[in-house]
Amino acid sequence: MSKKHVTFIPGDGVGPEVSASSRAVIDALNVPIVWEDHIAGEAAFKLGFETGVPTETIESIKRTRCVLKGPLGTPVGYGNKSANVTLRKMSETYANIRPVREWPNVPTPFKGRGIDITVVRENIEDLYAGIEHQQTPGVFQGLKLITEKGCEKIARFAFEVARAEGRKKVTCATKSNILKTTEGTLKRVFERIAPEYPDIIAEHMIVDNCAHQLAKKPEQFDVILFTNMNGDVLSDLSSGLIGGLGFAPSANIGKDVAIFEAVHGSAPKYAGKNNINPTAHMMSAVMMLRYLGFLTEADKMENAIYATYEQGNVMPRDVVGDAKGCKTTDFTQAVIKNLGKNAQSIQARNFQPIKIPNVRSDIDFVKATKRHCAGIDLFIEHHQQPAILAESLQKLLADTPFRVKMLSNRGTQVWPNMGAEPDLVDCFRCRLDAKDPTRTITDHEILDALQKVSAQHTWTHIEKLNEFDGKAGYSKAQGES
Ligand code: NAP
Repeated sequence: MSKKHVTFIPGDGVGPEVSASSRAVIDALNVPIVWEDHIAGEAAFKLGFETGVPTETIESIKRTRCVLKGPLGTPVGYGNKSANVTLRKMSETYANIRPVREWPNVPTPFKGRGIDITVVRENIEDLYAGIEHQQTPGVFQGLKLITEKGCEKIARFAFEVARAEGRKKVTCATKSNILKTTEGTLKRVFERIAPEYPDIIAEHMIVDNCAHQLAKKPEQFDVILFTNMNGDVLSDLSSGLIGGLGFAPSANIGKDVAIFEAVHGSAPKYAGKNNINPTAHMMSAVMMLRYLGFLTEADKMENAIYATYEQGNVMPRDVVGDAKGCKTTDFTQAVIKNLGKNAQSIQARNFQPIKIPNVRSDIDFVKATKRHCAGIDLFIEHHQQPAILAESLQKLLADTPFRVKMLSNRGTQVWPNMGAEPDLVDCFRCRLDAKDPTRTITDHEILDALQKVSAQHTWTHIEKLNEFDGKAGYSKAQGES
């Protein structure tokens, strides 16, 4: 097989120790990898790179399209961005894969249940788009951004992972019962795509029940697909089921760039002590070998790690405690010695390369043939009862095509009064729709209305009530008819 170039970032804290372990095993396997050594994180911040990622590192990734990295600390007092986030966003690694499998000789309350799950988490969108605004001195808002394109990419990816790993089922877990537009899009796209994968069972589960089922009967899951925020939380919970962060590898995969790293951070209190568990990073390196097409070498490395645990005489500190825990370097040597050996109780699955989905790259991914603007939601800072604001808006908008349909506060309709008794705050959503529902509201009419309202009120933001191909692109308030 031809040589593959990999950008190698040792990372901060325990990073250099765990990443040296992975590299030592890969080198012992004589895998034809050319390492390009680069820095990111604290070392880069100290050299004055504001993003924590030097230009040389970026150029190397653009060449190699593959990164094996250690954890990067987020420094306090210098540097202003997370180098991790910079790396992931820069390379649009939209899919986060986290395998969760029971380990031999690693005691947990779930021992013997046969947990073997792959968590697939969308890695770019959702609340992690990081679009946050303060509406009033006491009201804060974060935008949950979900796209049809992002959902299509990650849903296809989850099915492709299931196929590559010879798995039978993908469970898509969402909060679509409440967040019908955002979380609901992943559910709808997942269900639309599922028939293209008739060999894989597709099921949907409400995400809170999924959390409950993970704690109650985790062995029922095969592949689980989550939006970003839910996946962040529940993938950590899943790792906890099988032994914790020492056993949590991950891959961040995009169309043609992939970043492999352990889930854990730089664990500063263990830095330089040669006693950190390198398993999570080693298993991330195994995932990298498979991604690069070194399937035999990946199986060999994974099986050698299993064999080391099954033998149980060189065990990391987080499994057997401080007194009996081995040195990181001794664990690494034990794995190298076990290359070519298999464990009796567990073996690497029969993996095939993941087919990265080919999703159209059009900016206007979904095209509507019919559009209609039914009005606006205008958010207004107001310190009195809602009826006073409603009456004022009715007067101000009397000569416009708008009527005041309803006011809500923290999502619940408070005018007209439906009997709700919410604890009010000073940010009201005022739904202003068209007096004549058959006509489309124009931008000119919106600007005119804004001018009239701002003569007496402080508005904070505005959303159009769009309908695409006859379907409302906005949700109703709690209690709205
Ligand atoms: P952390 O570094 O993950 O460490 C938290 C705890 O997890 C450790 O104290 C240790 O628990 C356990 N742990 C971590 N790695 C382990 C391993 N390999 N083997 C066994 N146990 C392990 O989290 P943190 O202390 O919150 O964060 C430290 C820094 O890392 C922060 O600057 C954070 O921003 C950064 N971070 C980076 C990444 C990344 O680069 N991807 C990810 C997360 C955090 P015990 O104390 O119980 O032994």
